[in-house]
Amino acid sequence: TSQDAGWNFDNSYARLPGSLYTRLNPTPVREPQLILVNDALAVSLGLNVEAMRSAEASAVFAGNEIPEGAEPLAQAYAGHQFGHFRLLGDGRALLLGEQITPEGERVDIQLKGAGQTPYSRTYDGRAALGPMLREYIISEAMHGLGIPTTRSLAVAATGESIRRETELPGAVLTRIAASHLRVATFQYVSHFGTRDELRTLADYTLRRHFPGSEKAENRYLFLVQEVMKRQAVLIAKWQLVGFVHGVMNTDNMTISGETIDYGPCAFLDVYDPDIVFSTRDTEGRYAFGKQPEMAAWNLTRFAETLIPLLDESEERAVQLIEEEISNFFKLYHHTWLSEMREKLGIYHEEPEDESLIEELLRIMQIYRADYTNTFRALTWDKYEDTALSGTPEFTQWLALWEARLSRQPESKASSHQLMRRRNPAVIPRNHRVEEALQAAVNQGDYSSIERLLAALAAPFAHAPEQTDFAALPVPSSEPYRTYC
Ligand code: AMP
Ligand code: MG
Ligand code: MG
Repeated sequence: TSQDAGWNFDNSYARLPGSLYTRLNPTPVREPQLILVNDALAVSLGLNVEAMRSAEASAVFAGNEIPEGAEPLAQAYAGHQFGHFRLLGDGRALLLGEQITPEGERVDIQLKGAGQTPYSRTYDGRAALGPMLREYIISEAMHGLGIPTTRSLAVAATGESIRRETELPGAVLTRIAASHLRVATFQYVSHFGTRDELRTLADYTLRRHFPGSEKAENRYLFLVQEVMKRQAVLIAKWQLVGFVHGVMNTDNMTISGETIDYGPCAFLDVYDPDIVFSTRDTEGRYAFGKQPEMAAWNLTRFAETLIPLLDESEERAVQLIEEEISNFFKLYHHTWLSEMREKLGIYHEEPEDESLIEELLRIMQIYRADYTNTFRALTWDKYEDTALSGTPEFTQWLALWEARLSRQPESKASSHQLMRRRNPAVIPRNHRVEEALQAAVNQGDYSSIERLLAALAAPFAHAPEQTDFAALPVPSSEPYRTYC
């Protein structure tokens, strides 16, 4: 029964004004089959691991059964996609409700690919198995890397095929999030709702994610500041691991500060700020090096929705927003620089640290060095396999770095220990993810995915068996491309 499974819903979103969502059940599928389930995550949510493998749980994860206490709904939102404002909303996702965990945390349980909704426009409401497995792998990899992210609880195949360029097997992903409040949720209310609804949404968000607002002089300014802080830290972490989100539209930016929507995302191999993986991003709007700027653009749209609540004077409100955006860039840069120092084993600040870091990145770009493996090589003092090895620039840089390390009281050994905790041995390399997905989708062989997930769960372990996952792809004339 549902109780044995451990579902423990309390659905605060369903108590918000009805204009924010449409109540709707998932569309049942032909033949639910559980493909993956995340045991560790299930336990932390208070779910029973054995029960997660029952036929009843498969039915829940495919959308054929509603667990007790769930109140499914599709959320409304409206935001900027590649700079253009559109009415959007959950076109293929349904919020089942909010699970209260044994720790007392409240998290959203959402089915992605659960059928059409009033917000589907011309689309089918469904998702393909390959992309849902890919989201599962990459979101869990981000979590392993210590980066705030939505999580993946399960993937269920539907036994139905969906039409894309070809026929593909369908699937439903169960996504876990601190919430699905987005910049675009606020944009929706700001455009189509009342001032009361806006205040209700802002107050709800403060209660749900930002304790301490009671003490703030201006609670809505506090909201702007807190959201910007979380996003500054998040984007810094993306840049530090070489993560390219690929579709930073305002509907894909959370208020909670979690990474969301793993569509066309990919990790850098060679270091290049201009890299774009998504075929849809023809202008390079969301290129790797532009992510901080685009985040600031989205956050400006977010803060603008709150103008009516920020200050009686619109002019003053706009000025406040400008100050906060400038603080966003400062905090982003401070976080990035501090953690970059640690990636290089540096414990204390020196004014020249930034130019030392920038010089390394410049050399990596010139020689098309692999981003992750360069830091891994520095961590282990093993450069033979890197593109930088033996180049005059790198030899010179190494001497500067060695001198920098010798100016601090900490031993070289402790610097390298710090580096091992900051530089991952493994990331979800594009070619390894593709390989694992192909074996799963085409042959029904999930062993590669399981091995990959195990390695990605502990990226800082630097275990010998992880070496395999650090290997670079065979050079190809075709750049890696993602579609979405
Ligand atoms: P994304 O670019 O993934 O953030 O998606 C943008 C919007 O398109 C969201 O509102 C999605 O819900 C919607 N969407 C994407 N794929 C589908 C689909 N197959 N069926 C219905 N809506 C979809
Ligand atoms: Mg999205
Ligand atoms: Mg998407």
